[in-house]
Amino acid sequence: MSPTLDPTTLRTELYIDGAWRSATGGAIFPVENPATHEVLAHVADGGPEDAILAIEAAGRAQAEWGRSTPRQRAEILRRAYYLVLANTDRLASIMTAEMGKPLAEARGEVAYGAEMLLWFSEEAVRIGGDQTTSVDGSTRIMITQEPVGPCVLVTPWNFPLAMGTRKIGPAVAAGCTMVFKPAELTPLTSLALVEIFKEAGLPDGVLNVVTTSSPSTVVGRWMSSGIARKISFTGSTQVGKILLRQAADNVMRSSMELGGNAPFIVLADADVERAVDGAMKAKMRNMGEACTAANRFFVHRTLVDQFAEKLAKSMSELTVGNGAEAGTEVGPLIEQKGLDKVESLVADAVARGARVLTGGSRPEGPGYFYKPTVLTDVPLDAELMSTEIFGPVAAITAFDSEDEVIRLANDTDWGLVGYVFTESLDKALRFSKDLEVGMVGVNTGIVSNPAAPFGGIKQSGLGREGGKIGIEEYLEYKYTAVAG
Ligand code: NAP
Ligand code: MG
Repeated sequence: MSPTLDPTTLRTELYIDGAWRSATGGAIFPVENPATHEVLAHVADGGPEDAILAIEAAGRAQAEWGRSTPRQRAEILRRAYYLVLANTDRLASIMTAEMGKPLAEARGEVAYGAEMLLWFSEEAVRIGGDQTTSVDGSTRIMITQEPVGPCVLVTPWNFPLAMGTRKIGPAVAAGCTMVFKPAELTPLTSLALVEIFKEAGLPDGVLNVVTTSSPSTVVGRWMSSGIARKISFTGSTQVGKILLRQAADNVMRSSMELGGNAPFIVLADADVERAVDGAMKAKMRNMGEACTAANRFFVHRTLVDQFAEKLAKSMSELTVGNGAEAGTEVGPLIEQKGLDKVESLVADAVARGARVLTGGSRPEGPGYFYKPTVLTDVPLDAELMSTEIFGPVAAITAFDSEDEVIRLANDTDWGLVGYVFTESLDKALRFSKDLEVGMVGVNTGIVSNPAAPFGGIKQSGLGREGGKIGIEEYLEYKYTAVAG
């Protein structure tokens, strides 16, 4: 049975210096359920004054928090991990209601997002250092790591919980304070997460949250405050570039997890069943609204018809509906704009000669739904080849040679992830080397894992989240020369 959401338990206020409070002036904005258009709650609409209160609180808390012990920070993260797990049903139902993903996927995100907290609780007590001597032997060189300082965290709507824990986890582990602005479309999950951190014992002022309908105002105040030392952003490449320009003014450390345009490559020797299974995961996780979503399917000409037909069959069998209902496998898109974009990308591809094997339209009724869609014979000049589809549309193009497909796969400004399906170890290794991406899936459609360094190259971003190196984004090296 699906858990029902009790609106009276939702947190809807700003969280600043350990206290819940209304926005200055009392402004609020609505949060909608994308499956029903029902308004779930009204949330505090933070403005410039609230932004300043939040960053000043983070600034004040930094010195003491930076002196906390690794064990204290690890224990807070561990408690938060268990609390998130204990609240799985509640967090999943909030996420499904405000974002649309099916409950099973929302529960999966809770598990993944929670694991980030456990992972970084384990990393908190392993922050490194080094010691060596100068080349002439006259000086000892002592290298220590310190927290970067107050961090600005900005997250998108597509993974409302995990995008938060991927940043809060390492920031807490490293001893950084934070100001956090979750997406306007999905603030409720983040506010519920913050409540958990309070319960886990995170000191006042360490994590401050401002929800807002005016992201440029709030985040802009933080970026120009002179207090924040770092920005960690997940979202579109377009907004990432704006924030990088703002970061330049105060020379702030910058971590950017931006858009993608993932190639999904099926080589001539691939196991087609396995490739279709991987394609379903790489395409349909989160209704296709993932930066890691396979955007361009390149299939060897000898397999393309077989692959396309099998994929279309699997896609046509998916149950589309309200994510809160049992049996739903595909929820709605997040908003009208996303739906319009998917419709226009499909229309453009079809006008240029693509064939629709299944889907290709939106179902009747309310909600921002789009049918799982497979397009084949997609020409290279179709708009969706150079645009993140962010929807349940698989676009297939045939190729003839490996050199050709590597060139096509790399012919994009993005470089987040690439997928390759082959039974040959040599070919897998060649593609792992030649694809211009930060992550490669070999015979798998899923790469995200707390133990792995997640991130992209080219215009997909800067820095990595997770893995052993994830905490480095929140640490500075200091070197002390000791004479004698
Ligand atoms: P977005 O429009 O860039 O928004 C992301 C966040 O930035 C939101 O919190 C948004 O606030 C805020 N924002 C918007 N304009 C801003 C501005 N001028 N100054 C400061 N903040 C601003 O992206 P989205 O549509 O929510 O998310 C989808 C994108 O995220 C896709 O491109 C996807 O590939 C990318 N993504 C990347 C990763 C990764 O790890 N590489 C993971 C997930 C998603 P509002 O909510 O109020 O607009
Ligand atoms: Mg927006």
